Amino acid sequence: MNHLEWCRPRTGEMAALLEELVGIESPSTDPAGVAELARRLERELEPLGLKVELLPVAGAGPILRARVPPHDGSEPRPVMLLGHLDTVWPLGTVAARPVRVDGDRLYGPGAYDMKAGLVVVVYALRALRTRGPLPPVTVFLTPLEEVDGGPYLAQMEAAMKDAGAVLGFEPAWPGGAVKTERKGSGSFVVRARGRAAHAGADLTRGANAILELAHQAVRASALTDLKRGLTVNVGVIRGGIRPNVVPDHAEAEFDVRFRTLADGHRAEEAFHALEPVVPGVSLEVIGGVHYPPLERGPHVVAVYDQARRVAREMGMDLDEVASGGASEASFAAALGVPTLDGMGADGDGAHAVDEHVIVSSLPERAALAAGLIARLSEGALSRR
Ligand SMILES: [Zn+2]
Repeated sequence: MNHLEWCRPRTGEMAALLEELVGIESPSTDPAGVAELARRLERELEPLGLKVELLPVAGAGPILRARVPPHDGSEPRPVMLLGHLDTVWPLGTVAARPVRVDGDRLYGPGAYDMKAGLVVVVYALRALRTRGPLPPVTVFLTPLEEVDGGPYLAQMEAAMKDAGAVLGFEPAWPGGAVKTERKGSGSFVVRARGRAAHAGADLTRGANAILELAHQAVRASALTDLKRGLTVNVGVIRGGIRPNVVPDHAEAEFDVRFRTLADGHRAEEAFHALEPVVPGVSLEVIGGVHYPPLERGPHVVAVYDQARRVAREMGMDLDEVASGGASEASFAAALGVPTLDGMGADGDGAHAVDEHVIVSSLPERAALAAGLIARLSEGALSRR
């Protein structure tokens, strides 16, 4: 029996587990919810022969790390199965918008991004387990993917460096394509401090912080180069108290996306080199690159080729796509580790109210993952 033949009759079970996981609300800001979800997954993974650890993270829910205990030390490097436990949805969203199934679509907050990916991981491992002991894998599920700057970066990168390959179970692109390229991202806050004055009586004694930021918003936005895939968005601006007061304080928040790390660093330098324009105003710039891009190098193409081969054996096509969004898999690719992301379920509407999963994709993605894990463990990339 191939993996797909094993997974398909379990589609209903997979959808039921997904509904249950969506019901365990786990916003990044709620450590208790994230921990509860981790413990629920521990119950799925432990019986498969994995040693599961919940590693504490200060101020957040835990990391779930599950590994196959080594036999004699001659095993190949593990395949790392990477995902996140948190969602962008605050507590109470599920009560307001409970899971709803409409034909082949399952709607629910966090279903597509990325609780369906967690179900895919569990069933890929279950499918592999029916054939004997699991090959070396490391399941690594993080608690803070949806907010910038996870405090566990060093720990995650250590696991990545140890892996033979990293598979990210973020959602597939709508239609099922995996992600072989992702933009990196950064964010910046620019603060302007000027001098307050009466707008009528004393305009020239003031130094207008908002006017300064207007200049800086235009300057920073001029870094945008669509052809290179470098974009700057000024997304928040605030300052001032009344129309008749020259504002002494204002700040703006910027989001930056880039296709190459070099462009990311170029943008970073440009932000930190901003000089005030309005006399009497000083500037403070904080922030930088948060996520490196996932660059479509040979180490990414190699894993994609293997995945496509597995899909073809299942009678399916597997397309690739470049995504503007960042994910933690990008850190693995930036370290030069063979990486493929978007191994999660098909669907649409991440971070949106129409978020949904294509139910029939669940067994397909689990079978794809199982086949790919097996192939990578057999040394398909021969990275020892
Ligand atoms: Zn995600």
